[in-house]
Amino acid sequence: MTTLYSTRDKRHTFGVSFEEAVMKGLAPDGGLFVPEYIPSFDSNFFSEALPTMEFPDLAYTVAATLLDGTIPEDDLDKMIKLAINFPAPLHYLDYRHSVLELFHGPSLAFKDFGARFMAQLMSYFNRDKDRELTILVATSGDTGAAVAAGFHGLPGIRVFVLYPEGKVSPFQELQIAGWGDNIHAVKVAGDFDDCQRLVKSAFSDEDLSQNIRFTSANSINISRLLAQVFYYFEAYKQLLNTGRVSTTGKTKLVFSVPSGNFGNLTAGLYARQMGLPVDHFIAGTNANAVFPVYINSGIFKPAPTIATISNAMDVGNPSNFERIQGLYSGKDVEGSTWNNIRASLGSYSISDEETRRCILERYAGNDYLLDPHTAVGLFALESWKTENPEMANAQGVVLATAHPYKFREVLEPLLGTTLASPFQASAMQIVEEKHFSIAPDLELLKKLLLWQ
Ligand SMILES: *Cc1c(COP(=O)(O)O)cnc(C)c1O
Repeated sequence: MTTLYSTRDKRHTFGVSFEEAVMKGLAPDGGLFVPEYIPSFDSNFFSEALPTMEFPDLAYTVAATLLDGTIPEDDLDKMIKLAINFPAPLHYLDYRHSVLELFHGPSLAFKDFGARFMAQLMSYFNRDKDRELTILVATSGDTGAAVAAGFHGLPGIRVFVLYPEGKVSPFQELQIAGWGDNIHAVKVAGDFDDCQRLVKSAFSDEDLSQNIRFTSANSINISRLLAQVFYYFEAYKQLLNTGRVSTTGKTKLVFSVPSGNFGNLTAGLYARQMGLPVDHFIAGTNANAVFPVYINSGIFKPAPTIATISNAMDVGNPSNFERIQGLYSGKDVEGSTWNNIRASLGSYSISDEETRRCILERYAGNDYLLDPHTAVGLFALESWKTENPEMANAQGVVLATAHPYKFREVLEPLLGTTLASPFQASAMQIVEEKHFSIAPDLELLKKLLLWQ
């Protein structure tokens, strides 16, 4: 990956290095950074090398191919081993359906992959700088938890996580405020928008930018997408090794991705560009149906957010839409982008009612507990199979984006039982929960950042 461009820079005028894209996060024109070109593996790789690779080695190989010498091999290998230090196993529901469990990291959600890799990269790019790097992030819960876990203990970096008072669950708060050391939790007396506004105004404050080295850790950072490419390859490897697919491609392969900002789905599209033989993608959304409406009508119209039980996907203006459009924009015919996207992607909006039904059915039938987000993905896959009976034999993989325990406030009343805390929750070495409390006022945040 030699050069990256903004999604809004159609003529590729202002290219930046990978380091710059990672440290800046967002392009100066408000667009998202995308690689100029995505390299691909030849078919021998899939039949010969891939089947015997351990996940961290596979992740390294994918990263090294994408980054194409941008980072020295040994350094990259070290970072991958530190970031991707937990597995992504497939759980088979039946012969044709499985879920890819992406929740075995410290914050129990797939966001650990991206956040941990981004943290390693930022610490690496900051290694020779004489000033500490300050990361400022606003969260409604999940992102903050993954960022806190990913950056905890990294040298030369301090992190401030702003979260809205009373709007995150006690468990999420513990995952943000329980680390200590270089992770500072800031509880804001306001809502998520207040937190985001504070972060934005801090970034444009002269005083602050003169005194501290700043960056954000938000979800549109290109480094997070790269780490999410890894596990699509890992899923394919497991399917190959259990005989569920073969390299001849006779059995169709479909990934269903529970989607909010569509970063996870975009990473899957990158994996396919790299040669991963995926036949179709399905984007499951909750009632926030901007993307499924686009697939059906060709009209992309951001809408106010609707609250649902799969709240990490309550997004009314999916930020990665620009990246998806860029991947499929037809160079020739006007309007062809929509057709190109529709040919590779199906999308369904799943109601809370359907989500609950899906959870209950799988709990009773398969003795497997889905979190609400994963259930949206599975229901979307089933809807697609119903609409496309010729695809009944396709292998369907649903990305399981969160551990059910994370959403026990939804699941416990539904099932009428209490969920046991998973291993990671207790393995988080929590000394005590500690946070700062501020009103949504830039002056107070400034004091904190300059005093700390
Ligand atoms: C963030 C999140 C999603 C949505 O992922 P996107 O990449 O934003 O589409 C889905 N499920 C869970 C549990 C999440 O935390």
